[in-house]
Amino acid sequence: MAMENPFEGKEIWFGVGSQDLYGEEALRQVAQQTGEIVDFLNNTGKIPAKIVLKPTLKSSDGVKAFMTEASANPNVIGVITWCHTFSPAKMWIRGLEVLTKPLLQLATQHHKEIPWETIDMDFMNLNQAAHGDREFGYIVSRLGIPRKIVVGHYTDPEVAEKVGTWARACAGWDASQNMKVMRWGDNMRNVAVTEGDKTEAERVFGASINTWAVNELVAAYDKVKDDQVKDLIEDYKAKYDVAPELLDSRYDELFIAAKEEAAMVNMMRENGCTAAVDNFEDLGALPQLPGVGPQRFPSEYGWGFSAEGDWKTSVLVRIGAVMGYGLEGGASLMEDYSYNFVPGNELDMGSHMLEVSPAIGTIEKPKLAIYPLGIGGKSDPVRLVFSGKPTDAVVVSMADERERFRLLMDEVTVVEPQGSLKSLPCARAVWKPKPDLKTAVQCWITAGGSHHTCMTTSVGREAWEDFARIAGVELAVIDENTNARQFEKELEISEMYHRLNNRH
Ligand code: MN
Repeated sequence: MAMENPFEGKEIWFGVGSQDLYGEEALRQVAQQTGEIVDFLNNTGKIPAKIVLKPTLKSSDGVKAFMTEASANPNVIGVITWCHTFSPAKMWIRGLEVLTKPLLQLATQHHKEIPWETIDMDFMNLNQAAHGDREFGYIVSRLGIPRKIVVGHYTDPEVAEKVGTWARACAGWDASQNMKVMRWGDNMRNVAVTEGDKTEAERVFGASINTWAVNELVAAYDKVKDDQVKDLIEDYKAKYDVAPELLDSRYDELFIAAKEEAAMVNMMRENGCTAAVDNFEDLGALPQLPGVGPQRFPSEYGWGFSAEGDWKTSVLVRIGAVMGYGLEGGASLMEDYSYNFVPGNELDMGSHMLEVSPAIGTIEKPKLAIYPLGIGGKSDPVRLVFSGKPTDAVVVSMADERERFRLLMDEVTVVEPQGSLKSLPCARAVWKPKPDLKTAVQCWITAGGSHHTCMTTSVGREAWEDFARIAGVELAVIDENTNARQFEKELEISEMYHRLNNRH
């Protein structure tokens, strides 16, 4: 079991702008020096998708052909532009208007230092990115096209890091555009924030969100072969600290849990789905509320999962899993449960009945155990129990604000639990929210953020900001600089902006 590499076969196209005015020799140097820049960036190892240099863009027709091809090619997840020389920006208009892929404007330069003693007019004519990038920037801003702007010499490590983070957001967007979400059951009765407009979600995020009857899952469960179940149990034994009773007197219940995972995985694969939800109120003849299986969706398959029919959080978890591919940590459903209001030691504890994933990283090897579950009226479910490993993280929620979706993010620091939590039979994480618990909670509630979130410990703020910009979706951020009064004002301005901005 390993997550499919979302960057496999994916490309980022690099279009360098110039014009015919400069003559053959200058254009040859433009192409050659840009090639050096692209090779350098590819060799940093910080950019998970391959950057491919395309022929120099010198005309309006050329730009339009480049942008049309990039938009139509399913392997292209983003486009980087840079103007080595002065590139009159009217030639970019028709191309930019047809571009449907994420855009990054690289404001760089081939030379690092001005050659103080030798610089002449020829050198300055050839190397005038400072000039060209402004002209290009004007037209992109005028057209109102969102893009990431990265500034710096191409050898500056921060440049590759920022391009790499954006490449991750591009892959998240690509995954979102191709996502099918399997809903086993509707959302939990009477819950508001987990509701939402699934048709609008497909328009905005590309994700297709549909329902399969739980009876189909029960039928898939009945068809699972014993070998598949035994293989899963072997995998559990290799990765987790399995409670002895599950390998002895309660083996049948472990077998049921693994069989449920197999049934879910088989249905997901048969239908090409990469995110899912279930609902403890709608389990049909399934013996247990699925626990360990859904917990492994992000960590073993790179899929999204959320409980109680919350497809919005499941979509975020899938995007988070893709953006964080290959990095330490991962993505999981999280839910705010309990505060520690002790002055000077304010903390938030997140958990869920069962479904928090070890993808976020665990302090100790997760325990695979069985305990009763007070709700749902089913057999005791088998679940992984662990505490999230201390690290920087973000929690992100998606809420339907009637005419749009709002993403809300808080930067947090996951910390060690302050006690054994030995009586708590579910996975959890304890964190310090930024800027402090009281401000973070006040701002979160002001913005109407969900109690369900996607926690990512692999990628942080910048990747989600890049993703939100690409998606054209509001992202409100609570961070170390947030104060509640200012945040409320930012939200008001943001509401106006997103209501007036009809581009998306
Ligand atoms: Mn919940």
